[in-house]
Formats: sequence, structure tokens, C-alpha cells
Amino acid sequence: MLPCARRLDEAIALDYPGAASMRAEIISIGTEILLGEILDTNAQYIASRLPALGIDLHWMTQVGDNLDRLSEALRRAWERSDLILATGGLGPTEDDLTREAIAAVLDEPLSVDGEMEAKLRAFFASRGIAMPERNVKQANLIPSCRPIPNPRGTAPGWWVERDGRILVAMPGPPVEMERMWEKEVAPRLTEMAAGGVIVSRTLKTVGIGEGTVDEMVSPLLASANPRLAVYAKADGVHVRITAKAASREEAQRLIAPMEEEARGILGKTIWGADDETLEATVGSMLRERGLSVATMESCTGGLLASTITDVAGSSSYFKGGFVAYTAEMKIALGVDEELVRRHGVVSQEVARDMARAVRERLGVDYGIGITGVAGPEPLEDKPVGTIHIALDDGRGSQAISYTFAQSRAAIKRRAVTTALFVLRRALLAR
Ligand code: ATP
Ligand code: MG
Repeated sequence: MLPCARRLDEAIALDYPGAASMRAEIISIGTEILLGEILDTNAQYIASRLPALGIDLHWMTQVGDNLDRLSEALRRAWERSDLILATGGLGPTEDDLTREAIAAVLDEPLSVDGEMEAKLRAFFASRGIAMPERNVKQANLIPSCRPIPNPRGTAPGWWVERDGRILVAMPGPPVEMERMWEKEVAPRLTEMAAGGVIVSRTLKTVGIGEGTVDEMVSPLLASANPRLAVYAKADGVHVRITAKAASREEAQRLIAPMEEEARGILGKTIWGADDETLEATVGSMLRERGLSVATMESCTGGLLASTITDVAGSSSYFKGGFVAYTAEMKIALGVDEELVRRHGVVSQEVARDMARAVRERLGVDYGIGITGVAGPEPLEDKPVGTIHIALDDGRGSQAISYTFAQSRAAIKRRAVTTALFVLRRALLAR
């Protein structure tokens, strides 16, 4: 689920007296983005790094490789933003028009820079190939721009400063853009933005709905800095505390007392913080307790096993799993045929027996069984999104059943998350 726009905006636009904050805009250039062929991960990459620099992002624009529309997007950005961060369109081909558009908007002449051209030729020579003449255009500069080194590619970036504004043009390929950002752009922006950083801390909860969490933390919602916001995510409801201050340390000092209060209110519903994943959290609980787990999955097709093994070192607690997709396969792996006949494969009884069978077969502490209907067609007489998840620990089993009518991928993902929550709950109760 997407975070609520109102909150996001508020969370970022914190009032911080003192630090003159820059209004930033990201422009992603490339027709491939508009055709839906590539995801605009460059914009996401840059956006996620601006808060730490204390820079407020006000707009994100996506535009194709068209000189008029690109110029229009740049002109509008130049009028309304202090900092423009563009990616794409710096290549040698005819549809790479970023330099031309910037020159047109700023009304400055483009000309080949001798030093840049020599560097380009040397780059090709070092690879033993003659430089295609088309590439010369990558040595084009305008008077108010300084080239930004790009050791991972041929096109230099552009750093343009004029009229109290900054425009940075970076290459489209993420490996080139990310290096340029880290080594060149971010350090310069850090110097300029000195005086303000935005730091946030996310507490991840499970078992209570978004509205309930919001109600529980309502005494904390009035504060502007630090600000607290609630978001519903695939792995539960997140509570994010954001502070803006002159330094990282100061921001953390603002966050600490509110985090303590939030922890006091939410207690055991909190399962992790910041970048922690559910699979890693549950994995360390298993490791600490010296316990093991194995899986038998039907509708999730191995996604649970895959998710558990996303964690390095998971072999110390995950023994293995079966993808038992058909009824015959389940029975061949030890599920009671009579149960399957009586209740159907999509039933809590069969999920429980899958958990038991895999636990016994692999000799682990916990067996997990998942069966359900991932859709888009109903199965037996069960509606799409029906899910049964069971956990067997040798003394008995517990199960959860629910219906989550979404896309096939979302149904599978939700089932995996729920299975991990069921396991966590059992570990906490142990
Ligand atoms: P090149 O010299 O490779 O042509 P360029 O600066 O002209 O670089 P583009 O032609 O716009 O960049 O894009 C080149 C490739 O970079 C795209 O095919 C795509 O794989 C990747 N790319 C471009 N823009 C983005 C973006 N916003 N997010 C993620 N990837 C991108
Ligand atoms: Mg290109």
C-alpha cells in the first residue's frame, strides 16, 4: 500500500528554523520510462537520498526523448525549483537531447570542449577502439556548466550553476548515475546544504490495523519536529518518526524520547526497525533458540522457502522444504489421503497435516504448511485468495485461515508474510 500523501508531505516538509532548505525537483528523461519498459529507479534512488541531506523534494517529473517537451519540463523546473536533478539523455545517439535542451532553456551556446574531447578519445583508445564521430557531442558544454567525471561511461555529467539555481544532469544507466551521485554530486550538495539533515526511524508492527495504530499513537501525532506518521505496508503497519536538525546526532536526540514513548505504547506488536526484514528477525530468533523449521508449500510454490533463504546463514535453522502442488504430491509426501478427500486440498485440515508431515519427515522443530487459492480461478468451491497456513511443533498445531482477494503475486506474498508472523508468534510464546 502506498503511504498516505498528506502525511508524506508533512513528514518531509518539517519546519526547521535556520537551515535554508532547497526546493528540489527530479527529472527522469527517457521515452522507455513513458512506455513502461523500464522502471524509474533513478528517481527513487535520488529521492531516497535527499532527506539525509536536508533537501526537500517537491516534484518528480518524467519526460520522453523529445526536445520540445524536455525543454518545457526543464523550463518549468528552472522556474519553480532551486535544485534540479536530471538523469538520462546524455548518450551519443540522436535521441539523447538533454544537453541540447538545457542549452536552449538557458539560452547558452553549446560548443565542443577541447579538453573533454581529448578525454573521450583517450577513453576509446584505452579500449582499443576508434571513437565514433557521433560521440563528439558528448564533449559539448555550455559556459555555465562544469563537466562531472564519469569513469564508468563516456558521457560526463553536467553541473550548472546560474541565477541562484543548480541543475545537475547525470547519465541514465544506474551504475554510472549511482557512482556519479555518490562520489561527485552528493558530497557537493552536502557542503551546500550544511546546516540541516532529515533523519528517520521506522518501527515495524504486526497484528494491529492501521487505524488502531493511529489511534494508539495519537498523543504523539501533534508534534511537528520530530513528526510521527503511520503507514500500512505488506509486512505490517510502520510507524515512522522523522526529525530535522542541524546534525545527525541532534536529529537522533530529538527522535529518541519519541521512539521510547512509541515503544511503550506499541509494546510487543513491534517486531523490528528500519531496514530489518521479517525473515531475518524470525531467523535470528530460531538461531538464538537453536530451533529448526521446514516447509511444505502448495499455492506459494516455494516462495516461503525462497524468502527464508534470502537470509545469509539460514541453513543453521532452515532444513528444507517441499513444493507439493498437486493433491497426489501432498499424499506422496505423507499427507493423509482421507483428509484430502473429506475436506479438499484447500482446507485448514490439510494445511495442518502438511505441517505435520514435513515436520516428521525432515525431523525439525517446526513444520509449516500452506495451501490456498492463488487465482485467478477459484479452486474446488473455494474463492480466490482463500489461504490456510498451519504450524506444527510436535505437540500440536495452530492454523490461520483468511481470504485476501488480490493479484496472484500479492496473494502469495501475503501468505508468506503471514506464515512468518505465525512462526514468530509461536517462538515468542515458547
Ligand atoms: P547512454 O550513453 O547509455 O545512452 P544516457 O545518459 O543517454 O546513456 P539513456 O539513453 O536515457 O541514458 O538511458 C540509458 C539506459 O539507462 C536505459 O536504457 C535504462 O536501462 C537506463 N535508465 C535510464 N534512465 C533510467 C531511470 N530513470 N531509471 C532506471 N534506469 C534508467
Ligand atoms: Mg541514451
